Amino acid sequence: MRRGLRTQLTATIALIVLITIALISVLANVFINREFENYAREQRTTRCEDIVANLNRQYNMLTGKWDTGYIHGVGMYALYEGYVIRVYDKNGQVVWDAENHDMSLCGQIMQEIADRMARHRPGLDGGFTSQTYELAQSGQTIGKVAILSYGPYFLNENDFRFLSALNLILVIVGLLSLALSMVAGGALARRISRPITKTVQIATQISGGDYAIRFEGQTRAREIDELAAAMNHMATSLESQEGLRRRLTTDMAHELRTPLSAVAAHLEMMMEGVWQPTQDRLKGCYEEIGRIAGLVTELEKLAQAEDDNLRLHKKSVDLLALARTVSGNFESESAKKNIRLLVEGEATMILADRDRLHRVVANLLSNAIKYTPEGGHIRVAVQNTPHSGVLLVEDDGIGIPAEELPLIFERFYRTDKSRNRKTGGAGIGLTIAKAIVTAHGGKIEAQSAPNRGSRFVVTLPRRP
Ligand code: ADP
Repeated sequence: MRRGLRTQLTATIALIVLITIALISVLANVFINREFENYAREQRTTRCEDIVANLNRQYNMLTGKWDTGYIHGVGMYALYEGYVIRVYDKNGQVVWDAENHDMSLCGQIMQEIADRMARHRPGLDGGFTSQTYELAQSGQTIGKVAILSYGPYFLNENDFRFLSALNLILVIVGLLSLALSMVAGGALARRISRPITKTVQIATQISGGDYAIRFEGQTRAREIDELAAAMNHMATSLESQEGLRRRLTTDMAHELRTPLSAVAAHLEMMMEGVWQPTQDRLKGCYEEIGRIAGLVTELEKLAQAEDDNLRLHKKSVDLLALARTVSGNFESESAKKNIRLLVEGEATMILADRDRLHRVVANLLSNAIKYTPEGGHIRVAVQNTPHSGVLLVEDDGIGIPAEELPLIFERFYRTDKSRNRKTGGAGIGLTIAKAIVTAHGGKIEAQSAPNRGSRFVVTLPRRP
């Protein structure tokens, strides 16, 4: 089953924290226990040395006597701490013996220690061992002491209580941080998932046709902001596409209705016998139908040029030679409007589909002539750059308003409808040109200023 992003994020964060806490707890536990055992081991040695040092002082060198009262004190104190001592003088005679003194107390204390250690440290395998130390004063042996204690180390009840308190604290800290991390993780996951959920909602609305919707405000993640920006961009372009599509439908309808109704009206008149089907009238109808057919052909060409699988028949083409050929075809047309048509530049070989490029240049030139008044100038220039061939078509005609410049490559877009109806264009020429240039891996750009002229720049990679 697929789970939500938020659940997954929260679960992952909680799992990571859980593992970290478990690891820290185990390591801390092991480390603390080991240190404590080391301390207990050292403590055992230190205590034995203390006992020896204490006993050393209880012998009077001058009288050669032991202060048995004091030794008794030292012995009893040591016994309560878990050390059973037996003191001998230098002749090996027992001076004081804890077991002798209170057999049952000794047994009880030793039993307690053994039980406690077996209970808390079952794997330790410890036991009571005796160690004998020499007693001396100013370098002279005065006797010896045998100290019986639990080895390798032993801990008293307080020590064990301290250790379990420490463990309890570790567990509490662990649980607290787990709870805290769940809360923080949940908040973080919410913060990440919320804008994504919002994006999904917006995308759903866009796919439902609501192109006016936008992702408002900033999130705290750069990637999500980028996603939101991309979504907004998509909505904007869909919105404008939608506008163009609507416009395309009205334009198409308008474009077809005028000649169609004219033809229909003429034929009706002739059928009803109101008009004689003269040569001229039939020719008029024929021309109108020709214009409709021309529009349909343009649309077909556009569909072809925009086909993603457009197959280009690439050959080595000289852009300058091509420009000259196309310009030659437009000579009479430009001459009619008294426009000076100049072609210049250097021979530029590129790998391209000649026929299709021919169409691009023809579209640009035909526009230049259409939108340049009588007596104007048109310049076609070809430039050779290291990686591409550049073709430039420049005129000093009526130009294009800045706000319309980005739209002229759109299907059926014409800057001024009424003006264009006169010139007769359908608004497809530049769309076809752009589709062909794009298929070649190149780009087409327009610069223009109203009443000053326009410049179209086609850049084509030498070897796409
Ligand atoms: P059309 O068939 O209407 O010329 P195009 O796609 O070739 O369609 O051009 C789109 C619009 O761009 C034209 O209607 C025109 O308004 C504008 N345009 C194109 N070329 C020029 C130019 N050289 N000078 C001024 N306007 C131009």
